[in-house]
Amino acid sequence: MTIFEDVKELVDVPTAARHYGVEVNRSNMAICPFHNEHTPSMKLYKKNYHCFGCQAHGDVIRLVQELFGLMPIEAVKQINSDFSLGLDVDKPPDRADIDRITRQRQEREAYTIWENHSFKVLNDYLWLMRDFAERYAPQSMDDTPDERFVYSQHHLGYAEYLADEFLLADKEEKLSMKKEIEHIERETERLKRS
Ligand SMILES: [Zn+2]
Repeated sequence: MTIFEDVKELVDVPTAARHYGVEVNRSNMAICPFHNEHTPSMKLYKKNYHCFGCQAHGDVIRLVQELFGLMPIEAVKQINSDFSLGLDVDKPPDRADIDRITRQRQEREAYTIWENHSFKVLNDYLWLMRDFAERYAPQSMDDTPDERFVYSQHHLGYAEYLADEFLLADKEEKLSMKKEIEHIERETERLKRS
């Protein structure tokens, strides 16, 4: 465990936020201290916060950094002292810690790339369905409907559902949609060629 992990383990986000004067309501929503607002749009989880207004996002260390304009290690020292954690903040991390943290960072980065790509895939699909529905709509009752139009009528609702679902899902739920998203990606490619 590094000192950073110790701090995150010992002090949860809502506790720190309250301690530093952020007003947190019973559903763990807070007035965001990072942008000007009157109704709470910052959600506090145990380990993270996320503002739906300004997209501010981070863990307890990040929160304290941003509140006081500190470097990460300074934020750690601040929390250590304010919450009397008694951690040895001057002990250098060992090799195994550094390796593990590097690996975690790489995994996080890979996930972020995948997540952004998946957003794009689902949105492309949704827009393609909307486009098909409009562009290939039959002009009169007697027209035989274009198969792209028929396809869009069967899949537009599904495309909307997937895009919404992904937007609201947490990391684990998003990852559980991986196979489906890969399928959608191939399907979109196929349809664009049709
Ligand atoms: Zn905000």
